[in-house]
Amino acid sequence: MNIFGKQGEALGQTAKQFVSVLGSTGSIGQSTLEVLSLHPERFHLFAVSANTRADLLLSQCEQWQPEYAVLRSKEKAEWFEQSLREKGLQTQLLVGSEGLDFIAGHESVDIVMAAIVGAAGLQSTLSAVDAGKKVLLANKESLVMAGALFMHAVEQSAAVLLPIDSEHNAIFQCLPSNDSQLGAEQNLLRSGIRKILLTGSGGPFRTLPLNQFASVTPEQACTHPNWSMGKKISVDSATMMNKGLELIEACWLFNCSPSDIEIVVHPQSVIHSMVEYNDGSVLAQMGQPDMRTPIAHALAWPARVESGVDSLNWSQMSGLTFESPDEHRFPALRLAREAAEAGGNAPIVLNAANEVAVEAFLQTLIPFTAIIEVVQHTLEKIPFEEPMTLDAIQAIDFQTRDVANACCQTFQQLSSS
Ligand code: NAD
Ligand code: MG
Repeated sequence: MNIFGKQGEALGQTAKQFVSVLGSTGSIGQSTLEVLSLHPERFHLFAVSANTRADLLLSQCEQWQPEYAVLRSKEKAEWFEQSLREKGLQTQLLVGSEGLDFIAGHESVDIVMAAIVGAAGLQSTLSAVDAGKKVLLANKESLVMAGALFMHAVEQSAAVLLPIDSEHNAIFQCLPSNDSQLGAEQNLLRSGIRKILLTGSGGPFRTLPLNQFASVTPEQACTHPNWSMGKKISVDSATMMNKGLELIEACWLFNCSPSDIEIVVHPQSVIHSMVEYNDGSVLAQMGQPDMRTPIAHALAWPARVESGVDSLNWSQMSGLTFESPDEHRFPALRLAREAAEAGGNAPIVLNAANEVAVEAFLQTLIPFTAIIEVVQHTLEKIPFEEPMTLDAIQAIDFQTRDVANACCQTFQQLSSS
């Protein structure tokens, strides 16, 4: 508990919660700051961080005057430091991954929003867990690649883990109210749960003729029909790898197996996921497709606070529809389910190969259809093993990136010959 908090308690006031946002310049990071801005009496922004977007990070420092700002990349550090001083800001600049660990585990911090994209978010999120913070998990990739180690760290620490991914946040909200601990504490059978219904919109290409998939551009893939998100997760939504990663994420958060989870395509994204109980009751969480809702829910949990999100307009809603996912159209779903069932290094390979392939697609080096082919080839090339330590997990992640990069190059050569 921070000093401000202690003083607040002594005075009988509600203690202000100090918040570090890992990835504050991203889509989730910016939405988090929007929610925080509605509650200055409740939250204090303690630290912000960015990879390369130093200009946006600087304007966040001007607006919020946090104690710390972290730049992951050293490139613009000098310019940033000088700009802070010129503007008379007291914010301290930290550089590199040590800076991220520092703001994630700092003793003054109560809440850490883990909103870095990809495997790059694992280490700092784990630092927040180890330091016993209230951890708001947007960075699903860290659970996909290190689920067992991550959930074990949560059990061993005083950390409170809350899901930000809208589906997992919805499922959490539909669980019995006394089931507030995730991971090993969860027992679907004991809670009378028959299955989890993980919904997904189906992305921008749910109905696109299959013969047009090969010519899909990054711009088309990043234009999601319902959600506004960062580029990587937008492409993942277009291949439906996002739903595959979310299947694995759900298995860890709710301590269940892939067979306990049914993926349901729901193009309107009004229902954000559901829980079906043994008596046939199905509880759904609904709302606008706006990440400020799960962010506000987790920030204030177990209280409820304003998020800035409008009410659903029931008179204008034209109908909610549901269908089964098409694994032929979206082979990522099958690959992810198989990786979840195989366990061991398979989810690490799936995740890292996907990150490499998505980046290659965004740089127009490989076609859209090659993304999943790269993932599949890489999964076939790397033999099964069971990594037990963070070092072993990271070694597999690096090895996978080499194999996946080589695979992308083969695609490039093929397409240019
Ligand atoms: P984004 O690309 O908009 O932002 C990513 C953030 O991470 C930025 O602040 C960037 O500076 C930082 N970052 C990137 N690489 C980094 C590195 N190597 N080291 C340190 N920082 C780095 O991404 P996003 O859409 O906000 O998604 C963030 C995470 O939240 C992802 O894991 C995504 O799957 C998850 N998520 C996002 C949404 C959404 O609506 N955007 C919904 C659910 C889950
Ligand atoms: Mg989601």
